[in-house]
Amino acid sequence: MKYFSTRSGFEATASEAIVRGLAPNGGLYVPNTLPGLTEDKLIALEQMDYRGRASEIMGMFLPEFTAEELERFAESAYGENFDDAKIAPVHVLDENTSFLELWHGPTCAFKDMALQMLPHLLTASLKKCGEQRKVCILVATSGDTGKAALQGFADVPDTKILVFYPDGGVSDVQRLQMVTQTGDNVGVCAVKGNFDDAQTGVKKIFGDSALAETLSERGWFLSSANSINWGRLLPQIVYYISAYLDEVGAGRIRLGEKLNFVVPTGNFGNILAGWYAKQMGLPVGRLICASNENNVLTDFIRTGIYNKNRPFYLTASPSMDILVSSNLERLLRSLSGSGEETAEYMRALREDGQYTVSSALLEKLQAEFSCGFCDDGQTRAAIGAVWSRHHYLMDTHTAVAYHVLQSYRAESGDHTPAVVVSTASPYKFCDHVLRAIGGSADAPGVQLIDRLQAETGVPAPKPLAGLGEREVRFADCVEKQEMRAAVDAFLR
Ligand SMILES: *Cc1c(COP(=O)(O)O)cnc(C)c1O
Repeated sequence: MKYFSTRSGFEATASEAIVRGLAPNGGLYVPNTLPGLTEDKLIALEQMDYRGRASEIMGMFLPEFTAEELERFAESAYGENFDDAKIAPVHVLDENTSFLELWHGPTCAFKDMALQMLPHLLTASLKKCGEQRKVCILVATSGDTGKAALQGFADVPDTKILVFYPDGGVSDVQRLQMVTQTGDNVGVCAVKGNFDDAQTGVKKIFGDSALAETLSERGWFLSSANSINWGRLLPQIVYYISAYLDEVGAGRIRLGEKLNFVVPTGNFGNILAGWYAKQMGLPVGRLICASNENNVLTDFIRTGIYNKNRPFYLTASPSMDILVSSNLERLLRSLSGSGEETAEYMRALREDGQYTVSSALLEKLQAEFSCGFCDDGQTRAAIGAVWSRHHYLMDTHTAVAYHVLQSYRAESGDHTPAVVVSTASPYKFCDHVLRAIGGSADAPGVQLIDRLQAETGVPAPKPLAGLGEREVRFADCVEKQEMRAAVDAFLR
C-alpha cells in the first residue's frame, strides 16, 4: 500500500506520510487502496479486545510496521491510562440507540483515541525514514487538542512538545488541565491574543527557515500533531469497527446487518474515519453528520455548495466551532476520483471562500451521508431530556449528535439501529450540563465539577477530579511576536 496527495502525485510510504503530515503540494495523504474487511476477518476481530483490534486494523494500512511493533504500541496507547478496560465502550440507551464513549482516556475527550497512539507511530516512522534529529511538536490550541497532545507526548523519548494557548481564550478547566501537565519534555505558554493569533504565530514559526536551520544544527526539527496527519486519522477507524463488533457481540444486531452512526463533527476527521471503515466493508448504513449553529457542513451535504463566508458563532459545543473542515478534502478526493478536481475545489475555497461540487459528486455524497444541526437551546434540551428519561449524562457535543439523530429519524422514518459517537465526558463542559439539568453554574469551573457530581451521582473522571489541587507548572505569557523566542529557548 502506498499513499499519495489528495491533489495528485507525491507518492509516499505510510511512515513518510506520517512524518510529513502535509504533502508538498498542500494536499493531504490518502492510501491508494483500502484493505477489505471480509466476514471471516470481522469474526476474528470480534474475539479480540480493543488493543488486538487496533493493532490488527492499523496493520492493514501500515505495511512497513511489524505486528509485534503495533501490538506494543496498542498496549501502551490503550492501557491503564484509560479508566475503562474496554477503552471505547458502547453504552446502550434503548432498543435501537447506543453511545460509543470515546472519552475514557487521560484528557476525557475523543482526541485521546488518536493522540495516545500518534507519538508511537510518529517516533517509529522517523526511525524508518532515517531521520536522525529529534522532533519538537508545536501546537496552537483553543482547548482540547493542546491537552490531548501534551498527554500523548509527555515523556516520549526523543520528543518535546510546546503548546501555545490564547490567554483568557480557554476555559478554566482547560487551562488548568494544560498548566498542570507533568513530564520532563513538555512546555505550555499563554499568548496575549486570541486563538487566531496563536495559530498564526505557530504557522509563521513553521515557515521560518532561519529558525529551522538553527534548530537543525542543535539536532531538532519542528512538526505538528494536526488532525490532518494520517497518523491521527488511522487510529480512529478502529473504534467504528470495534463498536460494530460490540453490538454484534451483545446480540443487538446480527453480523452483516446495517448500523447507522451519527457523529458530532468539526474538522471532519472523526466521521471520515467512519466512512473509511464503511469503504473497507463494515456494514454501515447512514453516516449522519451533526453540526451546531456553525452548520457549513449541513448546507454542503444538502446543496453541494461549501461556503465559509458566513457568521461564526461561539457555541456550547466549542470543539465544533469550525468553518473550514480540513479533512473533507480527503472525501472529495475519493468521491471525485480526481486530484485535479480536488485541487480546484481547494483553490476556490482559498480564493473565494467557497466552491460547488459537481452534480455527480453531490449524488455520491448524499448516497452515503445524512446531516443536521441544532442550536444551543436544543442541545441543552437534549441533555435534560436524556438525563431525566434515562439517567444518562451527555456532554454538549454528544447532545448535538443525539438531537440530530432524533430529527433524522423523524424526517426519514429510518429506524435502523444507530450509534451516537460520544466525544467528550460531560465533566468537560460542566457549566452547560449543569444548566441543562436544572442546576446553577455560577462558580469557577473547578467547583462545578464537584457540584455536577453532587447533583447527579455520576462520578467525575479521575483526571478532572482534584484538578484544583494539582501543582501549576507553567505560568509564562508572551506577546505574539515573542513566540519565536519562546520556541528557541525551549529547544536550547
Ligand atoms: C475535536 C472534537 C470534535 C470534532 O471532531 P472532528 O474530527 O474535528 O470532526 C467533536 N467533539 C469533541 C469533544 C472534540 O474534541
